[in-house]
Amino acid sequence: MTGMLDGKVALITGASSGIGRGAALRLAKEGARVLLADMQDEEGESLRREIEQEGGIAAYAHCDVSQDEEVRQAVQTAVKRFGRLDTVLANAGINGVWAPIEELTPVEWDKTIAINLRGTFLTLHHAIPHLRSAGGGSILITSSVNGNRTFSSAGASAYSTSKAGQVAFMKMAALELGRYNIRVNAICPGAIHTNIGKSTTKRDTEEVEVKADIEMTDFLNEGQGEPQDVADVCLFLASDLSRHVSGVEIYVDGGASLLK
Ligand code: NAP
Repeated sequence: MTGMLDGKVALITGASSGIGRGAALRLAKEGARVLLADMQDEEGESLRREIEQEGGIAAYAHCDVSQDEEVRQAVQTAVKRFGRLDTVLANAGINGVWAPIEELTPVEWDKTIAINLRGTFLTLHHAIPHLRSAGGGSILITSSVNGNRTFSSAGASAYSTSKAGQVAFMKMAALELGRYNIRVNAICPGAIHTNIGKSTTKRDTEEVEVKADIEMTDFLNEGQGEPQDVADVCLFLASDLSRHVSGVEIYVDGGASLLK
């Protein structure tokens, strides 16, 4: 059987859980060889085995995306292991601390920005030479509705800023890299059932909440998506079906961020 991504190699950060995990399974099923990068080694290795049991090809690398050398090494591992690099999903991220701006500490602010924004930069920075060597490729950045179409998550100022920054960075990169046949796009999920709640600390957010009474039941799928919903969009953007799509953010939220 032929897959949509036969012959291609994909690097996915934050691959051990949630959206990254869903994308890894989907891309591998379509023939991509996948380098799974994350800090959750046990879950990452278990995903690698799952992909291989289903007939796919994957490898796992421990990588903290905020650390230059670790990202460089993860990219090297992908290229050494599979010979090339065609697709990058810069996906690792945390919600971090959500708190009133006057309470949020500079250390808390820096951590969210370091993982979500610097991590995205480092991933592209190290991957681009290999995408160029491959003659082109597709870069996907997991941003969010937060910071781009919604500003209603009380206390999430660092998170939303990082997610808006990712979209600006995506557009700069799309323009810069088109000459190398590299496409760059962002995926902006709404509420997706994953483990991101584990990386969230909320402190006194009720003090800065602006209340709006919106019925989620009125939205498609009640505004709640699954990693699979995001994975399908990743597949489209990673494949040649999107060969003329670059520099765009795609909302995957059932339309909920139009209002909420
Ligand atoms: P998730 O289930 O927590 O998965 C994220 C994975 O990234 C986890 O394995 C996490 O490990 C890992 N990670 C965290 N920090 C890392 C680092 N410094 N280096 C490498 N890996 C790291 O969350 P998710 O919902 O799939 O999130 C993936 C992306 O989607 C994030 O960028 C997030 O902002 C975005 N997003 C999610 C939603 C949603 O509703 N779920 C909505 C919009 C956007 P730990 O368990 O150690 O944190």
